[in-house]
Amino acid sequence: MYDKAHKDFKEQETALDAMAGDGGYSEGTAHGYLGAVMRRNGKRFWAGDNISDYVREEHIPQLIDEATEAFERVLDCLLIDRETDPNSKGTARRLAKMYFNEIMEGRYVAGPDCTAFPNDSEDRYEGMLVVRSELRSMCSHHHQPVTGVAYIGIIAAQKLIGLSKYTRIAQWCARRGTLQEELCNDIAREIERATDAPNLGVYIQATHGCCENRGIMAHSSLTQTTVLKGSFKDDPGVKKEFFDNIKMQQEFAPR
Ligand SMILES: [Zn+2]
Repeated sequence: MYDKAHKDFKEQETALDAMAGDGGYSEGTAHGYLGAVMRRNGKRFWAGDNISDYVREEHIPQLIDEATEAFERVLDCLLIDRETDPNSKGTARRLAKMYFNEIMEGRYVAGPDCTAFPNDSEDRYEGMLVVRSELRSMCSHHHQPVTGVAYIGIIAAQKLIGLSKYTRIAQWCARRGTLQEELCNDIAREIERATDAPNLGVYIQATHGCCENRGIMAHSSLTQTTVLKGSFKDDPGVKKEFFDNIKMQQEFAPR
């Protein structure tokens, strides 16, 4: 299994890899190898980090195979008879595929391609733009679902991106293991990068499975986080307009 990743990485081996020697190959698995390469390069690979520079599309089937075996071991430890229980038979593979292709996909794929359109004509749009983006994420601590909505506001700058791109960026950031505070920062940073707009705000409200399904068993706890930059932070009028827009959005589509 690990041969393919090994071969791929041999092919794109850099001078640095060559100097570092074969230390990273010792684990004999693709995830062991990729993890060793990232460690060697000082690349952080926390649950909320995008690692698409290292994990390429063709590694995913192999990583899914390895995660399947690991989930099988977890089910065995939980004393779930995956041999005879028909509902548990394919569960390990379903979990592995779900992690890579769905709930943590934002770690393994590059960000959405956001073609920017110039906004520099005489009658260019100079107002505030607020986009509501539905989010599904997962907390890094318990791997429980985080469900919510992000409101992304910007004052249009020299370039504009397609309206759906705001949500694609937000969802790409969300489909990882995150903390809501970090997710809010991540979305703000990526929107700023895509639009070059220095004046922006991101407000997220979400419910957390780890508070609802376990622990405090809260049935209606809502967590709110806000990141404000530029005039959204410094100009009380802009800040008020942003939150007034959010209230209007919530009248239009409650949660
Ligand atoms: Zn949690």
